Amino acid sequence: MRRFRFSEPGFEAAFAAFVEERRETPDDVDALVRDILAAVRAEGLEAVLRFGHQFDRANVSAENIRVTPEEIEAGAAQCAPEVREAIAFAAKRIRTYHERQRPADQWFTDEAGVELGWRWTPLEAVGIYVPGGRAAYPSTVLMNAVPAAAAGVERIAMVTPPGRLQPAVLAAAKEAGVTEIWRVGGAQAVGALAYGAGPILPVDKIVGPGNAFVTAAKRRVYGTVGIDALAGPSEIVVVSDAASRPDWIAADLLSQAEHDPAAQSILITDDEAFADAVEAQIALQLGSLETRDDATVSLRNHGAVIIAPLSEAPRLVNMIAPEHVEFALDEPERLADQVRHAGAIFLGRHAPEAVGDYVAGSNHVLPTSRAARFSSGLSLYDFIKRTSIVKCDEAAFAILGPPTVALADAEGLPAHARSAAIRLGQG
Ligand code: NAD
Repeated sequence: MRRFRFSEPGFEAAFAAFVEERRETPDDVDALVRDILAAVRAEGLEAVLRFGHQFDRANVSAENIRVTPEEIEAGAAQCAPEVREAIAFAAKRIRTYHERQRPADQWFTDEAGVELGWRWTPLEAVGIYVPGGRAAYPSTVLMNAVPAAAAGVERIAMVTPPGRLQPAVLAAAKEAGVTEIWRVGGAQAVGALAYGAGPILPVDKIVGPGNAFVTAAKRRVYGTVGIDALAGPSEIVVVSDAASRPDWIAADLLSQAEHDPAAQSILITDDEAFADAVEAQIALQLGSLETRDDATVSLRNHGAVIIAPLSEAPRLVNMIAPEHVEFALDEPERLADQVRHAGAIFLGRHAPEAVGDYVAGSNHVLPTSRAARFSSGLSLYDFIKRTSIVKCDEAAFAILGPPTVALADAEGLPAHARSAAIRLGQG
């Protein structure tokens, strides 16, 4: 891991350059994705099945593209009991956390006598992309579908590339309230959800992570449907003093590094000897880690240790705007309260980020690549929308009418002006 020292000249410039480094490999996939989406839009299911054959070597037809309720039941039943229990435990906690996010409707009368307010309503239909292969995680299903169900979304359509459906993924889908599952992946799955394809009816919003093809397709269908944020490689910053156990902190840093060769793990500490001990533990733990290949590349290319007074940590964290930050300290709030830009904050020596990935209840779909400066993690708010409501009686309209006429005239919109003036007896 690279090491930056606050005490050395040039620290600010070197650290700023590190923060700006790009980690995503540039992908030349957009042109292909444009063609896939156009074909799905024009030909529907036929194109979806064709791309499935082409990219996934899938033997999927109109008859078996939908995973039947019997298949879901049978698959979920194969899930190990302790995993099924953990899924139920996690789902309950995620549901409780997200239900607390539900905002209240508002209705009030202002000084002009105008009645005003807004009303929240759930989306009707949501599509959830669940990646195939190694990244087919039950936690992904829970973190995306449970908040949608908690919001009151009626139709939750899951898409996932053809291939063996993992029992834990099916158990999670069942637990989370997914209403349908389709064997389709990649850009064609996003197209099917956005435009509809045969039996796959269009949805209103698509959420969930995926590879470069999926992400490019989500970017392109935005406007036809809503999308969640565009996920990049994962990140963690751990702020720790020398009183933490180096092996715990090493494990936390590795828990991000194993995700992806482009993931980023950063330690901020005020103690050089502690940093050495953490790095020694990382080397030790890497030896027995099945995911060591990705973790090693990630730490070598994007890992960093920053030696700085801990009072500097909030400012440095705000510059990084990480997806996750841990404060492994005795009074973590003292520093953590000064953090403004972070997807999720974990407080204390017993709050590893991994609990947030699974069972804390908060969402693990969080802004990456410094998007925490302007956005938040997935929440109930992603599955509801607000309608504003206005009610005027004659007396209230007598106050609102004249300035409406004046502004409409100023904008050169005579029909707007007349619509108000006519009610003032001036039309
Ligand atoms: P995926 O489901 O995202 O993509 C597989 C699909 O990509 C296939 O169905 C195929 O149709 C399409 N595809 C593959 N090669 C193609 C090509 N050459 N041309 C056109 N389409 C092609 O599964 P994956 O590829 O295993 O990737 C999973 C991704 O999910 C990873 O990038 C991982 O980092 C990301 N991710 C997952 C999570 C999570 O919570 N599960 C979180 C963050 C990121």
